[in-house]
Amino acid sequence: MNARDIILGSGPSGVAAAKALTARGRDVLVLDAGLEMDASAKALRDRMGAAEPDAWSDEDREAIGAVRRSEKSDSIQPFGSDFLFRLPEEMAEYGDPQSVHALRPSFAKGGLSNGWGASVLPYHERDFDGWPITLDDLRPHYQAIAQMIGMSGQKDGLASLYSGIGMDDAQPLPASRQARELLARMDRKKQALGQLGVHYGASRQAIAPGCRACAMCLYGCPYRLIFNAGYEIERMAADDILRYQGSAIATGFSEHATGVTVHSNQGEFQAERLFVATGVLPTARLVLSSLGLDAHEVTILDSQHFYLPMLHSWSAGDPAVEPRHTLAQAFWEINDPAVEDHVVHAQLYTYNDTYAPDMRQRFGPFAGIAKPLIEAMSRRLIVAQPFLHSDVSPAIGARLDGGKLAYRRIDNDRTAAAMDRVKNRLAQVARMAGMLPLTPLMRPGSLGSSFHCGGSFPMRDTPGTGETDMLGRPAGLKHTHIVDASIFPTVPAPTITFSVMANAHRIASAA
Ligand SMILES: Cc1cc2nc3c(=O)[nH]c(=O)nc-3n(C[C@H](O)[C@H](O)[C@H](O)COP(=O)(O)OP(=O)(O)OC[C@H]3O[C@@H](n4cnc5c(N)ncnc54)[C@H](O)[C@@H]3O)c2cc1C
Ligand code: SF4
Repeated sequence: MNARDIILGSGPSGVAAAKALTARGRDVLVLDAGLEMDASAKALRDRMGAAEPDAWSDEDREAIGAVRRSEKSDSIQPFGSDFLFRLPEEMAEYGDPQSVHALRPSFAKGGLSNGWGASVLPYHERDFDGWPITLDDLRPHYQAIAQMIGMSGQKDGLASLYSGIGMDDAQPLPASRQARELLARMDRKKQALGQLGVHYGASRQAIAPGCRACAMCLYGCPYRLIFNAGYEIERMAADDILRYQGSAIATGFSEHATGVTVHSNQGEFQAERLFVATGVLPTARLVLSSLGLDAHEVTILDSQHFYLPMLHSWSAGDPAVEPRHTLAQAFWEINDPAVEDHVVHAQLYTYNDTYAPDMRQRFGPFAGIAKPLIEAMSRRLIVAQPFLHSDVSPAIGARLDGGKLAYRRIDNDRTAAAMDRVKNRLAQVARMAGMLPLTPLMRPGSLGSSFHCGGSFPMRDTPGTGETDMLGRPAGLKHTHIVDASIFPTVPAPTITFSVMANAHRIASAA
């Protein structure tokens, strides 16, 4: 099958590229590994999505939460299905036997957006330091993507810091009482917080209007309101806007005078242009092997994150029973060069049903005796998850070894001090807001576990080997564009996917 444009992958970057190309009237074919949720999980989702939460059966409630989400990637099983990180037979060697990092590829239809946290922020002006493009280049594409993903949130203290997106049309989400009280307390200290370079506000989420406040977000949204690139691709294919071919695994590509040939488990495909949107690890393998860069090591940049638990002093009733969503409730941004050269982004989570089991695990053999204490503490817990810029984070070295990727850890001697400064500033903010920061319990995320990773084929004004131009074309190629996070020159702290999608949309609009 041939097409004028082929996109590899149906995740957020693929769908953003598809949106821009089809708007230009291009003939688009999406080739995708495209694993799907098991039939029983789909049936569970559809049954729950067809009723209001108070009409859900106890069996369905139990089934959706059967696999409790933890820090382990394989615990993310939307509606109880493990399809998000399942490996197709052809890709069986992606599991990381050396345990160097926690980043995982997804071969699902919709990619990682089947299990993501849906937090969205544009990058700050200074986040484009070292990039060949600026915030102004991405601004119109942020707007276009915001319309597709359903931006929830409100215009508040974050608007002045992140001018990349207007929030005039955004709908607020049903925030928890804990979050409302937290933000109200911060409002009363606004001036002092401003002097510390702290901006704060309600979280911004890629959630379409109509949230039922059913608190199931961590298990999958039965109403399909959390943005999922797979749903969008399915809709575009059903409306004949593009063609979609699942179970198609690309194994390589080669350019010729008039276009590109894609090699796959389903034979060869011809296109005038190719857009590679397979996610950071599969893209590294595909591009290195297709370009014959056998000896080249790519550096996959990471955004170091950590967890800081805090206990609030105020009473907010029983947070377990109130209607709310369970994704990030608030964002704190630290814009102070004394803490970090770049803006630090933190996501705040209030009560969810993973807190008590997580604490029980930590109490080990004493969990039984400590049960009342654990239950009480979990209801007063707010967890901050700050992210750092890749300049102060460790990275992953990846190169081909017998056709597969081999990894090594690249440490960064600035990470520990940066985490310390951020922890201290967050603790200061927590106390001002009436919380006790449990700093000895701070927990760093393992390498790659933020899934905010990229930078393996960075965009440069004058690209050399292993680098790309402003349109994501590897040096020397004319018809092949990488459009996922692999081409980011750095990985700034704010959420990555909104910028990945805006950049893919920019490239596909201009290519
Ligand atoms: C638990 C979790 C929480 C997250 N939370 C957030 C968040 O709150 N905010 C945020 O900004 N980001 C978040 N992320 C990151 C976000 O999910 C990714 O940035 C985003 O999905 C990347 O999109 P992508 O299209 O580049 O790649 P992917 O989503 O990985 O999609 C890759 C696509 O390529 C296909 N594919 C792969 N290899 C091949 C091949 N060889 N041939 C054909 N098809 C192939 C796959 O089937 C898939 O369709 C989170 C990620 C995880 C795992
Ligand atoms: S609370 Fe979460 S899962 Fe429930 S409707 Fe809202 S977004 Fe969907």
